[in-house]
Amino acid sequence: MKNIPSIERSTSQPRKLAALRQAQQDWSNSSDVLTRLTRRLSTTLSLETQLGILADELNDVVPFDSLHYRHRIARQDFVFATGLGGQHRSEYRLNLEGVHYGTLTLNRRQRFSEEELQGVETILGAAICPLRNACQYMAIEQAALTDALTGIPNKRALDDVLLRASQLSDRKHGDFSLVLCDLDHFKSVNDTHGHVVGDHLLQLAAECLERSLRTSDSVYRFGGEEFAVLLPHTADADARDVAERIRKAVGQIRVDCGEETLSVSTSCGVATHLAGESPEQWLARADDALYQAKRQGRNCTRVFAAIS
Ligand code: GH3
Ligand code: MG
Ligand code: MG
Repeated sequence: MKNIPSIERSTSQPRKLAALRQAQQDWSNSSDVLTRLTRRLSTTLSLETQLGILADELNDVVPFDSLHYRHRIARQDFVFATGLGGQHRSEYRLNLEGVHYGTLTLNRRQRFSEEELQGVETILGAAICPLRNACQYMAIEQAALTDALTGIPNKRALDDVLLRASQLSDRKHGDFSLVLCDLDHFKSVNDTHGHVVGDHLLQLAAECLERSLRTSDSVYRFGGEEFAVLLPHTADADARDVAERIRKAVGQIRVDCGEETLSVSTSCGVATHLAGESPEQWLARADDALYQAKRQGRNCTRVFAAIS
């Protein structure tokens, strides 16, 4: 075992502690732009909040008419914009250690001077590490809400949106319907063709579901071979039509397995949110409708209201 050195108070220690206190005070009270910028950026990991702080501090030193930032994080476009217009433009690709962390554009009616552009670069240089941390944090957050196999949102993401949809429905912001789609006899796909083919079919099914929906609708991998679709502003009759469209579209998928062409059918359960209902109760009704679809022969859609 290693000996831990005994802690001795050297004569210089009080001086060091006093210097530390002073440094902390200086850092907290400093009004120089770089210290203030990094101090403010260090208080948050939200990319949006950081960009707001950056825009604020930048505008103080190099006034601009508009700032625009864009980046693609975890397969999604992230855009931040503040201000309007300006025909003169200065664009910066934000890179750190060979990795790209977005593109920032400043626009202004008057041309930027060389000195101003240097000022912008200095400020961006001070902001790049916190921005990198915020981008990485957002990527991790996205990954936690994304299904690794299909790339679509997962059950955790569904839980969040179902809660929000239930609240909106309770406040009379329209009808929200939920469709649960479960691939039929999927176990036998794996048993006959192997897991790799099963995985491929799940990926194709996820793509097919996404393609079959309006942009306001969203699809989630709910479980192994089960998907959930949330349809805002949709009551049960229309939701049933959407479910039928999905069911038929998934039924068109073909996987070439050499001697055989593989296809799969789907059963769908639909439930429209009822006032005061919790997300769990809503899900349970959709699951009940799905169970009825399975019981009544599979490859069909059942709506909860129609069977209760
Ligand atoms: P049913 O028509 O009643 O839904 O029958 P089923 O065989 O689809 O349902 P069951 O619940 O018996 O089996 C689900 C199967 O889905 C078994 C499991 O191996 C498979 N599965 C779940 N997740 C994955 C996955 O990520 N990849 C693959 N390849 N298969 C999966
Ligand atoms: Mg199944
Ligand atoms: Mg299942």
